[in-house]
Amino acid sequence: MIRCPKCGKNFRNADSVILDVNYTFTHAGCYEHDYMSKDQGRFVDLVGKYSAFEGNIVHRFFASY
Ligand SMILES: [Zn+2]
Repeated sequence: MIRCPKCGKNFRNADSVILDVNYTFTHAGCYEHDYMSKDQGRFVDLVGKYSAFEGNIVHRFFASY
């Protein structure tokens, strides 16, 4: 399960999230502006978009259901 490093809550598919340059997901509302933002959108969309880079995370995420 992927959790937000700021608030510790699990991401839901419809959550608005930030993906930083290290491919770390953070809630948009938890995001601190001293980090470099790579992309922003719904969690489920970004997971699909970057699955080529983070296939292991996608696998863990969907395997948890
Ligand atoms: Zn959060």
